[in-house]
Amino acid sequence: MMYDVVVIGGGPSGMAAAIRASEFCQKVVLIEREPRLGGILNQCIHNGFGLKIFKEELTGVEYAQRIESRLKQQNIEVLLNSYASKILDHKVEVITQHGIKQIKAKTIIFAGGCRERTAGGISLAGKRVAGVYTAGLVQKMINYYGKIPGKKALILGSGDIGLIMARRLTLQGVKVEGVLEIQKSCSGLRRNITQCLDDFNIPLLLSHTIKRVVGKDRIEGVFISKVDENFNFVGEEKFVECDCLLLSVGLIPETEIFNNQVELSSITKGAVVNEFRQTSIPYIFSSGNVLHIHDLADNASIEGEIAGESAAKYANSKLPNFEMCNIEISKDISYCVPQRYCVCDGEFMLYFRAKKRFDKKKIVVKNESGNVISSKFYLAMLPGEMQEIKINKNNLSGNIYLEVEE
Ligand SMILES: Cc1cc2nc3c(=O)[nH]c(=O)nc-3n(C[C@H](O)[C@H](O)[C@H](O)COP(=O)(O)OP(=O)(O)OC[C@H]3O[C@@H](n4cnc5c(N)ncnc54)[C@H](O)[C@@H]3O)c2cc1C
Repeated sequence: MMYDVVVIGGGPSGMAAAIRASEFCQKVVLIEREPRLGGILNQCIHNGFGLKIFKEELTGVEYAQRIESRLKQQNIEVLLNSYASKILDHKVEVITQHGIKQIKAKTIIFAGGCRERTAGGISLAGKRVAGVYTAGLVQKMINYYGKIPGKKALILGSGDIGLIMARRLTLQGVKVEGVLEIQKSCSGLRRNITQCLDDFNIPLLLSHTIKRVVGKDRIEGVFISKVDENFNFVGEEKFVECDCLLLSVGLIPETEIFNNQVELSSITKGAVVNEFRQTSIPYIFSSGNVLHIHDLADNASIEGEIAGESAAKYANSKLPNFEMCNIEISKDISYCVPQRYCVCDGEFMLYFRAKKRFDKKKIVVKNESGNVISSKFYLAMLPGEMQEIKINKNNLSGNIYLEVEE
């Protein structure tokens, strides 16, 4: 059987993509390697999800269940315990408990999420000892399996997972010595700094990092130091005793399945897409954390909906091959998604992140002649927060430029 849309990944983005696609197409299948849907949200028992989509504050688990119950009302086939191992020409190879099978697809949406950067990934110096974990793994250990990683913890990296885990560990009775951040500003959301650190008197040490890990078989502590703007160690090193270290030092899109078939961005590490979340291979779409790291699950779901609708239109031959133009960014912007747009009437939302903190600044989008086609004033922009600006494409062509107005 030929499916109209095959969605790989049953997290909030993949589920939203499948639901949206099923509103336009008959044959939609969702493939998930785990025994249940929900993705990373299944281990997020804290609240803070759903404010944008459901207009109320839910836990990650509740958020996932809401979307899953919507999914069940649609005509969508769900394959659990099924690992999509390869994308071949209009086919997905899936490893199931009953053997390997190939699923034919008019279009494919890859929404496979991301993985955490490890100690090796940041060349953490010192002993390779037990007790060094990624923060998401500890979240799973505590929330899924009821296991506590130690008694005294230190957290490296101020991403949201690190902040959330600082609070989670404290609630479990673990003494959190602090959160170290090499940058001058925190990379997590402002609400997480307040609710997870300030409310629990957990110190946040900015411009600080670990010099080396100490221990014999298990971690016994770390030497930490302040760094200058070039990340060189400055001042005296200090020993912090701890029996576990959590790393919250970045998430990386898991794009191996593309096997170099689709064009990837050197910045986001996800696929380069147009506003329909269509990759350089027109029948392959992508959304969620595998495309770029989202601060909010709501945004991952919204992106899934865009990919779902677009893939369904492609399957129904209603998404023609448009001429494409680039969206370029100034040096103050880390990245934007999409990176291209199609020359056709309509509008789309451009998502981006600032490289550093900006207060009371205007973001402008200019066309090739230097005329402003869109602008938005921001009271504050933090690198950890994803921003958005609407682009009206009517009569627009040529490359466009996103910049922070001087
Ligand atoms: C620790 C942590 C805390 C967070 N806290 C918040 C918060 O408070 N509020 C908030 O709004 N957001 C939060 N987020 C962000 C939010 O959880 C993510 O943005 C969201 O889960 C991304 O959704 P996704 O569908 O892209 O990826 P995921 O949720 O990771 O789902 C991807 C799914 O794809 C499956 N998969 C991958 N590859 C394959 C394959 N080859 N074959 C089959 N299946 C595959 C995976 O098993 C997984 O189920 C948090 C994230 C983390 C990690």
